[in-house]
Amino acid sequence: MNGPPRRGLHLDTPVQFLKGVGPRRSQLLSRLGISTLEDLLYHLPHDYFERSSLVPLRTVRVGQQVTVRGWLLDLQSRRIRGGRTLVSGVLHDEGVTLSLQWFNAAWVERDLRVGEELVVSGEVVSYRGRPQIVNPAYERADQDGELQAGRPEPRYPLTAGLRQRSLRTLVRRAWEAVADELEDPLPDEWRKDLDIMGLKDALHAVHEPSTMEEAQAGRRRLAFDEALSLQLFVGVRRRQLSRRKAAVRLKQVGELSTRYVRELGFEPTGAQRRVLRTILKDLSKETAMHRLLQGDVGSGKTLVAMVAMIWIAESGAQAVLMAPTEILARQHAARQLPKLEKLGLKGALLTGGTPAAERREILRGLRDGSIQVVIGTHALIQQGVEFSRLGLIVVDEQHRFGVAQRAALSQRGAHLIVMSATPIPRSLALTVFADLDLSVLDEKPPGRQPVSTLLVNESRLEEIYRRVRRRVEAGERAYLVFPLVQESEGSDLASASQAFAELREGVFSGLEVGLLHGQMKPREKEEIRRAFQRGRLRILVTTTVIEVGVDVPEATLMIVHHAERFGLAQLHQLRGRVGRGDEPSWCVLVASRGIGQPARRRLDLLTRCDDGFRLAEEDLRERGMGELLGMRQHGEVPFQALHPLQDTELVEAARSRAEAVLHSDPRLERTEHRSLARWLDHLGGRHPFWSATG
Ligand code: ADP
Ligand code: MG
Repeated sequence: MNGPPRRGLHLDTPVQFLKGVGPRRSQLLSRLGISTLEDLLYHLPHDYFERSSLVPLRTVRVGQQVTVRGWLLDLQSRRIRGGRTLVSGVLHDEGVTLSLQWFNAAWVERDLRVGEELVVSGEVVSYRGRPQIVNPAYERADQDGELQAGRPEPRYPLTAGLRQRSLRTLVRRAWEAVADELEDPLPDEWRKDLDIMGLKDALHAVHEPSTMEEAQAGRRRLAFDEALSLQLFVGVRRRQLSRRKAAVRLKQVGELSTRYVRELGFEPTGAQRRVLRTILKDLSKETAMHRLLQGDVGSGKTLVAMVAMIWIAESGAQAVLMAPTEILARQHAARQLPKLEKLGLKGALLTGGTPAAERREILRGLRDGSIQVVIGTHALIQQGVEFSRLGLIVVDEQHRFGVAQRAALSQRGAHLIVMSATPIPRSLALTVFADLDLSVLDEKPPGRQPVSTLLVNESRLEEIYRRVRRRVEAGERAYLVFPLVQESEGSDLASASQAFAELREGVFSGLEVGLLHGQMKPREKEEIRRAFQRGRLRILVTTTVIEVGVDVPEATLMIVHHAERFGLAQLHQLRGRVGRGDEPSWCVLVASRGIGQPARRRLDLLTRCDDGFRLAEEDLRERGMGELLGMRQHGEVPFQALHPLQDTELVEAARSRAEAVLHSDPRLERTEHRSLARWLDHLGGRHPFWSATG
């Protein structure tokens, strides 16, 4: 692919051969994942300016979603709390002004000049009685009269140094040069059945729509393609894997699991029983199980995992439980290993912190099969640990565990259970975890008291602390959660370490206060956690390090500082650390001074809602999938057109079509599937997400 192509431009021609793209621009484009002309065609707008909704500035009212035009009167940038930058501008037209605020977008100041004519869009909110738009999308009003009422104008994801206008021109040029080469991989009947556009029409519709409806219809087709390609890709992959025989096939289960459950002193919930039945069925099949187990915090996923692991161990194979943090691994080990021992099973804890000699010993035990159950961190399996006969891998609390990692794990033919406490809607689960079967623990153990959740202002903190003090003196235990470990420079955001120092000397003096955060050494963390568990510490000043899995039933109070900094799903997870015993529990969300109404409304939902699914859905709507799944960086979120939440029908349709195709033709070898196969091959090379699965 080096050197200029011989005959003109093609879909796979490197983008630098397009007029207007030099070495510098092609560098910038590559940052957006664009290297060929086809990539340019597939660089889809994330939204549109709708010129038809352009309204005069003087008619703008708070609460409206508007696009307005005006001149930039003023532009300033300053540092604000949390080390962030705030760029403020004033838009002016016919004697009326509107304030514009961009958070954390210092580049806006460099991009704009006072005096420029802009088109700006966003929701108008009121701040101190004045209308403003926060983080408005903007565009220079076009000098050469391109501004046409009625035609939506695409807005593309950009990178610094590249402007909307240039990108739009490049996409247009690429379109004119190579669009005719586009082939539609979908059979005609599908298009009719599903009522979707042809590929070429769809791409044209998203890049050059005459109406928003057209742009939407184009998006819908491309969204289907994304959903379908994922389902096919993963489907092919899954078939390859499941043709791999399971390393262990359960013939029958012994009595150890029954003894284990009896010792626990409670009855499994209906949901736990149901999921265990499904798992047992899977484990007795010839092919390896790959299952996602979703369950809200406290739904009792550990019991399910342990029973499955005991079945495996009892049948003469080995089982692994991997936790995302050292703390959690140690906690699991501390609880479970003694119970396993009682059953006559040999277990071990293996983490990054395990001393070398002990480590060697454990590795030997895993190799010769004398250790049947090992608990550790996620790194455990990746470090070339050898097993005598690995039967089951359980990955705990891990929604941030990519397709590639899962595929790597399943190489060994072991059964796989991935457990996640961030419940996500089915359509999203079907896309992001398309390679897994889905089980849901939709019932909580009985007798749980919901955590009373309050939302309060920072100004009430003193009073809250006094109450915490009284309750702790009466024997309760409290978590005080802070967003950061250390005070960052120029920020007034209270941090865990600083708060710890202050609180211990101040309002909580004389009480046993401890500090726990992610940057501490594993041993220190473990000591602190134990001390808190045993009640030697009664107040734990901490960070989100306790978000996953930490289980101290005696803790009944949680104060989350700067609550607006956390996602709803994350707050729900945090809140799940209290209310684990029989005592009533409280979670107090402390909102920082000056947060806006939307942030307050968002937090308020937590005070009314205890349903992890609902909260996760809300998070998805507001913060996007990347945030929820921990795929923040560009290129990691695998979809441009698809919104798994809204496109439920497309996702289901894609899944059933893909299943039907693969059922009859698992390797896509038939003539009628040739174009699909080519297309997939092609995508595999082009998209980081897909290639990671390969
Ligand atoms: P999670 O799904 O969040 O991982 P855990 O497995 O940690 O939940 O369980 C939360 C708590 O509930 C633990 O203390 C556990 O012992 C308890 N538990 C689990 N299942 C039951 C049950 N069926 N009845 C009563 N308590 C249960
Ligand atoms: Mg758990």
